[in-house]
Amino acid sequence: MRRAVTILGSTGSIGLSTLDVLSRHPEQYEVYALAANRSVDSLFKQCLTFEPRYAVLLDNEAAEQLQAAVKQAGLATEVLSGEAALEQVAADSAVDTVVAAIVGAAGLLPTLAAARAGKRILLANKEALVMSGALFMHEVEQHGAILLPVDSEHNAIWQCMPVAETQRYHFADKGIRRIILTASGGPFRDSDLSELEHMTPAQAVAHPNWSMGQKISVDSATMMNKGLEVIEAHWLFGLPSAQIEVILHRQSIIHSMVDYDDGSVLAQMGNPDMRTPIANTLAWPERIDSGVEPLDLVKAGQLDFMAADFERFPCLALAYRALEIGGTATAILNAANEIAVEAFLQEKIKFTQIAVIIESVMNELPVSKADNLTQILADDAAARVLATDYVNRLCSR
Ligand code: NAD
Ligand code: MG
Repeated sequence: MRRAVTILGSTGSIGLSTLDVLSRHPEQYEVYALAANRSVDSLFKQCLTFEPRYAVLLDNEAAEQLQAAVKQAGLATEVLSGEAALEQVAADSAVDTVVAAIVGAAGLLPTLAAARAGKRILLANKEALVMSGALFMHEVEQHGAILLPVDSEHNAIWQCMPVAETQRYHFADKGIRRIILTASGGPFRDSDLSELEHMTPAQAVAHPNWSMGQKISVDSATMMNKGLEVIEAHWLFGLPSAQIEVILHRQSIIHSMVDYDDGSVLAQMGNPDMRTPIANTLAWPERIDSGVEPLDLVKAGQLDFMAADFERFPCLALAYRALEIGGTATAILNAANEIAVEAFLQEKIKFTQIAVIIESVMNELPVSKADNLTQILADDAAARVLATDYVNRLCSR
């Protein structure tokens, strides 16, 4: 039987890569529901190609426009809107697999709905784990969901973990010395430190190795992305921050590594193309073609490694700090980062002020226990208010 797939965030970078892989295997996968924020045209085109059972836009007006277009084209697709509809298509009993590819905190509730419905979840939305890792993992285990990491580093680690254990999420006693997350270092890895404050949004989103959405591209330039990934790895693999290391690897060919007690270091390699981890998680434990070019190591020639530089990348240090503090500290970090990144993209603050704002918010807000969603969302909201305050103060200078 074909697996019915819901893609949350189908019009984004991960969404498009997922549809590319799915379109290579129509006999194995059925596109059941597509969901996005407000991009009517892209979602309409996807409806024409994939004829999903449901198409969801968060925005009401956009959904009405999509509805009109779908009707005129004579498609059977049902158009829905609003947050409840996102959760509905994530939890629908006809759905087998949910691709969680909404960007930011907005992805949390629909991804949680998929976990509670016991789905096979292909997790790209790392922010869900950063905000509510303990709670999220609890729901996954409680409801027998299968959580498969799409983030390339975590997918690499997953592939290097002991096979029999890859459904348990607890690797603390499996003879692992540490996991090593690789980072390209983003577009500013070689820039003069004094130039960083003058970097523009256009420069920040021009990633040397990967093509991605705007928010994660800025996160890569600050290396907050790697910081969020350290937190994501902590929850996915059940390892303390002291066993999660970051090193720079500018070619992005080794996607991450696992260092075992016996001295074996296992690495997963491939061209930097998200269709590999997407195909890996779609088909797991089988393998399918992803459309990715075979890796040519001779052409790559060289693999370089360097220590991560916390002075150049203060956001990475802030993420480690939040993980060590625990509770809602990581949700606060994430929320302040989302506000600061958006303000930077709108040219309201300088690149280097992103870290300053996050640190100020972390210093000022009290941290709570992260054992219930209400508290997590309240601290997320408080961090957004405070971060917006800092943005406004900086712009009015
Ligand atoms: P993107 O900006 O390209 O796409 C985001 C998608 O989410 C779009 O379809 C958008 O319509 C939808 N969306 C945004 N806000 C929404 C809301 N409130 N409700 C419903 N839909 C909403 O982002 P992306 O680069 O595809 O990244 C998506 C997620 O995957 C992020 O969490 C990112 O960290 C993670 N990720 C991305 C990559 C990558 O290569 N792009 C790699 C690893 C992890
Ligand atoms: Mg990644």
